[in-house]
This record gives sequence, structure tokens and C-alpha cells, in this order.
Amino acid sequence: MTAFKALGLEEHLLKAIADMGFETPSEVQEKAIPILLDRETDMVSLAQTGTGKTAAFGFPMLQKIDVNSRTTQGLILSPTRELCLQITNEMIAYGKYMPGLNVTAIYGGASITDQARQIKRGSQIIVATPGRMKDMIGRGLIDISKIEYCVLDEADEMLNMGFYEDITEILSHSPKEKSTWLFSATMPKEVSTIAKKFMHTPVEITVGTKNVGSDQVSHEYYLVNARDRYNALKRLADANPEIFSVIFCRTKRDTQKVAEQLIEDGYNAAAIHGDLSQSQRDTVMKSFRNRQIQMLVATDVAARGIDVDNITHVINYQLPDEPEIYTHRSGRTGRAGKTGISIVIVSKSEVRKLRSIEKIIQKQFVAKEIPSGMEICEVQMFHLANNIKDTEINPEINAYLPNINEVLEDFTKEELIKKVFSVEFTRFLNYYKNSKDLNVSGDRSQSEHNADSTRYFLNVGSKDDFDWMSLKDFLRDLLQLGKDDLYKVDVKDSFSFFNTDTKHQELVMSIFKDFKLEGRQINVEISKDTGGGGGGRSRSGGGGGGRDRGKRRSERSDRSDRGDRGDRGSDRKGNFKKRSAGSGDGNKSGFKGRSRRSSDRPDTKGTGGRRRRRD
Ligand code: ADP
Ligand code: MG
Repeated sequence: MTAFKALGLEEHLLKAIADMGFETPSEVQEKAIPILLDRETDMVSLAQTGTGKTAAFGFPMLQKIDVNSRTTQGLILSPTRELCLQITNEMIAYGKYMPGLNVTAIYGGASITDQARQIKRGSQIIVATPGRMKDMIGRGLIDISKIEYCVLDEADEMLNMGFYEDITEILSHSPKEKSTWLFSATMPKEVSTIAKKFMHTPVEITVGTKNVGSDQVSHEYYLVNARDRYNALKRLADANPEIFSVIFCRTKRDTQKVAEQLIEDGYNAAAIHGDLSQSQRDTVMKSFRNRQIQMLVATDVAARGIDVDNITHVINYQLPDEPEIYTHRSGRTGRAGKTGISIVIVSKSEVRKLRSIEKIIQKQFVAKEIPSGMEICEVQMFHLANNIKDTEINPEINAYLPNINEVLEDFTKEELIKKVFSVEFTRFLNYYKNSKDLNVSGDRSQSEHNADSTRYFLNVGSKDDFDWMSLKDFLRDLLQLGKDDLYKVDVKDSFSFFNTDTKHQELVMSIFKDFKLEGRQINVEISKDTGGGGGGRSRSGGGGGGRDRGKRRSERSDRSDRGDRGDRGSDRKGNFKKRSAGSGDGNKSGFKGRSRRSSDRPDTKGTGGRRRRRD
């Protein structure tokens, strides 16, 4: 707090800042605030999204305006309605101890009369999107002839969106003597042109380490065949049951399509892009903020600057056209001190593009493998177990217990657990049991063992006190293999996987032919995939599994095996509206997770009737 005080901010702002829970100023705040407080100057500030720009211009503007006057003194232009509302709310929060302060949001798609009425009340600060602003000035509904401060927020994006002429028009109605503060993540020619045209010897600020280069975000890529892109996305979602993510597509059309597929497949997903009506966009954003939507599929423009905390994954479903845009995308996660993961799903022909992005973010992408169906089942079961553990018992259950107990009285705890998990997982296991390996051998590291590699399934895991290192050591000792001859050791709860070059296959199988560890039979089976090395995985037969494989097989329902299906039914009417109607009671049931309503996806979460399909 003293750090904010040292910037020269007044007591009422410090109090609001304390209420917001800000402790230390961000870099752009530290650099910009003292200058803007100290003198009347133009400023160009280069800073990535998520660096705290709103406060960097917001605090000084609030401190400098006169709340006792009803004249409009500050104008903030921003590219989208979402940002406009976000900035407005932020300004109101910063100014909560400034009685008489009016901050008004002006944007398209809402009633112009209502907005005009608010302006008439006397707004010291207007936050606006250029289109509606120009319109209202043209109709004489807004007077900015006395503004002293003008902020161009996300200037590069406003120009990208074709607002150059609107901005020029708007500013022609403002006085010459004012301070203009321009904020931008990048500085393309168009932005410097604007800066030259509208500003006089601006102070320039660059915020060094961008959030994208921050250690908070790790960058990963998954190499798949282009046709497997969507299935890879689903696997990533299934492998991360608590995912809360923004998924980027290049076009509105793809954005809509991917969202519809996800919805159809039973995920809590929605699309946000420029073709949605304003009220649709609002509904989507609201649902996303309160976590009814776990996966928001977005275009770059629509997602720009959207400030939602705690996003766990940014997924680049398609790479952006410009490598610079990647930085905006990945900056959606890893905010406010949290860590985040930025994932890229690439096909072979795109993989070289990663290099130019790495130059910009000054970090390396880590090659990752799309989890196998088996790994996903493991994750999901563990997740369910934890959910059960953490579920608070609903006292209303008591009334039904006598009857329930009667039905279940003959079962032991162990049997009941198996049954509960079978209820939830049979469909899921069936779905994944024939799923193929989606990974494509990685070009990037030629040294990767792949072509002639064998993957093994081993029926010991972390339950047996192994971690990947100790298992690797154990296997190497046992098999007398060299340091690099054993790789991709992946230890799960009750089983593990590892790879050797195929030439060692005979040796491995012979040693494990009849092998006991502490009296227990240890089985090794060859898994048909290569752990991401080669092509198609077939999980049919004994290609992997856990302790209860036999049992599980016998419990398979007679639903036809699905595997991963790339093709969708023709009935793609899934859209956000329909979705939210269908999800209502799913959310009320206290599940943050997705509610299933599609048959194209296995039920995975929840116990008992909570997760039953509603279709
Ligand atoms: P930008 O405009 O640069 O994308 P924002 O101004 O939207 O960034 O700020 C991003 C998030 O960080 C917001 O949730 C904001 O409330 C928060 N924030 C801003 N400044 C600070 C600070 N000094 N300490 C903690 N959080 C902050
Ligand atoms: Mg911003």
C-alpha cells in the first residue's frame, strides 16, 4: 500500500485500492502513474494485456478530474463492448470513495436513449466503443468539447477493427488542449501514425517483461494430424476435469463450429465472436465468469482484453496468423500471480511456426503427448473419487436411506465402490477403450525415439511406491539396459507405461515372463501404441488396463464402441441458448463441471443420479 502512496495517489484512492486487494503497483502503473499525476502530458504506453493498464490510466484520471463538476472531463475509448463494461466497472470500483462520480459506458447494441439519459445526468468520465460514440456525438447527445483527458485503450486492436475513421471523427470534436494517453500491446505502423497525428511529444513507456514471457505461463504443444484436432481437444478437456479455458480459433466460423461440437458432446462450452448479438455476448461472458461455462471458444478480437481470472488453460486450437497474436492469447492465463498453461495443437505442417512464436515469447514450447484413453480414465476416476470424498452429505438423503440400505445391504464396501465406479465409468471406458493414439511423431526433436519403439504396460504404479524415477531405475537395473534405452516412463496410480526400442522387446518380455516382486506377480504387456511415437493405437484386447481389467470387460455395456469420432451427427443445433437451458439443473446440483446431455460423450462425473443424462 505504501508503494501506491509513494506514487502520489490520494487517500480515497488508496482506500479503494486496499479494498480491491492490490498490494503493489504493477510495472506499468509504477511507471505511468507518477508521470500522469505530475504533469499534463501525452503518453504512449506499450504493455501487454493483463499488466494492469486500466489502473495505470484510471487512478490518475480519477485523481485529476473534478467530481463537483458535471462536465465530461475524461473519455476512454476501447475496442469492444466487453472491455468497455469492464473498464467502467473498474473505474467505478476505484472511485467508490468519490461521492458524485458518474462513469458512463457507451456502447452499441443497447438502448441509445438510456445511454443518453445517463449522459444527461452529468458524467465526468465516459468509457466508450468508437462506433456508438461517434453516433452519439453526431446526434448531439454527447459533448466532449471540454474533455481534458482522452485514453485510447488497446489502440492496436481498435485500429485492427477498423475504427481509425471513427476515432479521428470523435477526436475532432475534442479540444486541442488535452492530454491523450495511448495504450497498446503492440506498436504497428498504424498506431504510430495515430500517435503522431493526435499527440504532441508523448512520454513513452514500455513495460519490459510482458506477461507472456512471465514464468507464470508454461507453453506446450501437441502434435497431431489435422483431422484429429478436435478429438485432441476433447482429450485435453477430459484429462483436465477442472479445466477453465479459452480456446482460440482463427475465424468466427470455426469458433462457432468448435463450440457447437463441444456442446453437442456434452461439454459446458460456448462461443464468443463478433457475429453474436450483444445480449448473447453478455450472456456468454456472464456464464463464463461464474463458471457455468468451462470452455469458451473465442476469436482473437472477441477475447481481447477479456479479464477473467483463474483461467487454467489457453488452448490455441489453431495458431494465429501473426505470431504476435499468440502473446495476447497466452496472456489470458497466468494472471494475478497464478500459473497457467498455454497449449498449442499443431499439425506437422504448422510446427515450424512455433519457432517464430518462441522468438517473441522468449520461451521454449514443451512437447507434450495427447493422453491416451487409459490415462484419461485414470484421471477421471481419481477425480470422481475425490469428488465423492469432498461431497457434503445432504441430510435429505436420510429419509430415503432405509429403502436404499435394504437394496444394497448385501454388499461390502469394496463391492459398493466398484459398483459406483462402474455405474459412472462403464460408458466412459467403452468410449475410450478403442481410442487410438492421436500423437504424431515429433519433428522438432529428431532425437526422439519413435519409429522403432515399443510401449509396455506394467501392473505396478505409484500405489506400489514407484515414481517415474524409481521405476526407471528399477527397470534399468532389472533389464540391464543403458541410460537412454528406457524412456517415456509414465507412472499411474496402479499401473505404468514405459518404452524401449523395439529391438529390446524380446528381452523385456522374457524377463517379465514369470516375474514376482515381493511375492506378487508382475505383468508386462505390449501396448500397441508407441507412447506417442508411431501411428495408430489399438486398445482392443489386452492393450493396457488397470487392476480390474477382466472385470471391467465383463461389465461392458452392449452399447457399440465408439472410439473417438471425428464425424458429427448432422443435427448440429447445439447453441448457447439451448445449452444453458439444458444445463440449469446441472449447475444447481452443485457441480462446477459440465453437464452431460449428449450421447456422444461418456458420463464421467458425479455419482448417482446427479449426472444422468437428461436427453
Ligand atoms: P490490462 O488492461 O493491462 O489488460 P487490467 O487493467 O485489466 O489489465 O488488469 C488485469 C487484472 O489485474 C485486473 O483483474 C485488475 O483488477 C488486476 N490488477 C491491476 N492492477 C493490480 C495490482 N497492482 N495488483 C493486483 N491486481 C491488479
Ligand atoms: Mg485493459
